[in-house]
Amino acid sequence: MPGFINPYTFVRFPETVARTPPAGHEGISDDRLMGTISVEFTAVSRLLLGSGSGEDFSVASTGGQQVIPGPGLKGAIRSFHEAFTGSCLRVIDLDFVPVHRDNLNVADHRDLVLAEVVQSDDDHLSFRELRDVVWVRDDRFRFPVDGEPASGDRVKLQAPPGSVVRGRLTSGSATVDPNGDRRILVADSGAKVDRAMSFATGRITAGDPWPSSAEAIERFVKSLEGSADAKLAATRQDVRRRIQRGGTAVETGPVRGRRRVENGTFTVGQPYWVKVANGEVTEIRPSLMWRHLGAHSVEDRLRKNDKSSLLPCGHDAVWNGTLELCPSCQLFGSAGAKDDENAETEQRSYRGHVFVGEATIEGDSSGLQLAPLGSPSPGAAQFYLDNGEGGTTNTVNRSRPLAEWGSSADSGKPRGLLGRKFYWAVESRPGEADRAQRRGVADDPTRVARDVQVFSPGTQLTTRIQFVNVTPAQLAELLVSIKPALKWEGTVLRIGGGKPFGFGSVTAAVGVTFWKGKGRYLGDEPSRIEDGEAAEWVKSNLDLDEKAWWPDLKRVSAQDPELGDAPVWYPSDGNGQPGTSAFDSGFGFWKRSAGHPPSARIQNSELISLPEATDQDQELN
Ligand SMILES: [Zn+2]
Repeated sequence: MPGFINPYTFVRFPETVARTPPAGHEGISDDRLMGTISVEFTAVSRLLLGSGSGEDFSVASTGGQQVIPGPGLKGAIRSFHEAFTGSCLRVIDLDFVPVHRDNLNVADHRDLVLAEVVQSDDDHLSFRELRDVVWVRDDRFRFPVDGEPASGDRVKLQAPPGSVVRGRLTSGSATVDPNGDRRILVADSGAKVDRAMSFATGRITAGDPWPSSAEAIERFVKSLEGSADAKLAATRQDVRRRIQRGGTAVETGPVRGRRRVENGTFTVGQPYWVKVANGEVTEIRPSLMWRHLGAHSVEDRLRKNDKSSLLPCGHDAVWNGTLELCPSCQLFGSAGAKDDENAETEQRSYRGHVFVGEATIEGDSSGLQLAPLGSPSPGAAQFYLDNGEGGTTNTVNRSRPLAEWGSSADSGKPRGLLGRKFYWAVESRPGEADRAQRRGVADDPTRVARDVQVFSPGTQLTTRIQFVNVTPAQLAELLVSIKPALKWEGTVLRIGGGKPFGFGSVTAAVGVTFWKGKGRYLGDEPSRIEDGEAAEWVKSNLDLDEKAWWPDLKRVSAQDPELGDAPVWYPSDGNGQPGTSAFDSGFGFWKRSAGHPPSARIQNSELISLPEATDQDQELN
């Protein structure tokens, strides 16, 4: 297997976030500074500037001049500042729990019952059982005379006596028939290409319907998040999907059935697999092998690992009735608790002391068809959770791989989060294929390539940053967050998009003009810090002790982190072309590293964790 270096790593969290009352905006004390930092950033890698997502990614302009709006730049500076000062986790989805794919090892199909939707409106969703399930192979439908079955169609079986063996139609045939006494569920089998696929049919009955619990609907809708179906449903009107043998969704080739693209709504007559308890549906699946929610949210993991202080300033868990803020919220402002819609939100908010102007862009750009980002989701606990020292082996016969959120590795105390995510500042190297460039054919319609403008190394961004009523120590932290090289030589700030491709590294030249106290209004001459003096000024004014996480931040900010020769990219199975899903799926690695329960098919059941940011050797294989 070719080795690889994961494109991102983590800067570890502080033990606790230090919060103090902010200085406020009334009056200017004599020991505080105000002034302007003029900044000229120079790109040392390609830059993907502008905003937007999906196919719509554009650079803003003011009067014909291409610019980066202030807030975008401020966000990049603030991200560094948060990591540097050990501040709160302002932008994090505290409720996040990943969705995992069902695993072949999960033997929980026994309780599933085939049922059709019999009522679906704003208030009610109910199902009725489809009895005597018979699985029908695709080639028992008479093609192309009757057309292929679509999920929810009525079908009729021509089943001579003895033709149904252990729930499977072994002889006879099936037809799509509006008067048929059965309904068919057409689903992706997920089986290997060319193997026949079978669809479940069940006899329509007149029994009592089962109402669905609200939780079952909510879990079903959540399980769609990030799925290929969700992406398809968002881009297409057609909710039926053609599938060929092997379960592969196709646009061409022999169509064996039409499955439903799940979009979170329910249609009367559509079959699902459901679990029923006390006459109520408690689980809904569009196929036997589906997706399930993991357990223990981000917030839960922070709290249970004594990291509650990392919750955003203003959050109920860190609010003690008076405004106390982490270093970043003091300097850049705090929006207060997001989930708090009442008047208290204002009380918990704070206007910052730093104002970042828009930056003008001077440099060459060229069009690039950006490869889709096949990044593994945070659901991969191999890389996102703290799995402890060394490898963890799934020795007990558990049903779920250790890489899942909520596996046996989370029993007792759920694993903590590894830290703040940072991408290595490494682009494709000379001689390597440009991993940012889309290659090959569009083999998967759910992964959209984007046509973007990419600015070349050497591009210059010029802006002015104003600061009001800050301490010299705060100014020193701000300067480091604009130009990390003032603290650690050879480091860069990362701005813009495409960071998984190594884009966005900038060096900076800074010049500071400032007054002390009310000096500006008294007509004092301003003081100056030239770029060449800034490192020395920062050194004598920074009042932070050496932090445990600084070596991590220094390494991930290095323009050349000296990672070795393996390509910096997601695991590849080496099939197909870089940029295609076949190449990027890394199926072999994910299977090998997930800590599966030992079985005949999987010998190595060890959970492989990401190296620490400071580890010299970052290669995985
Ligand atoms: Zn904060």
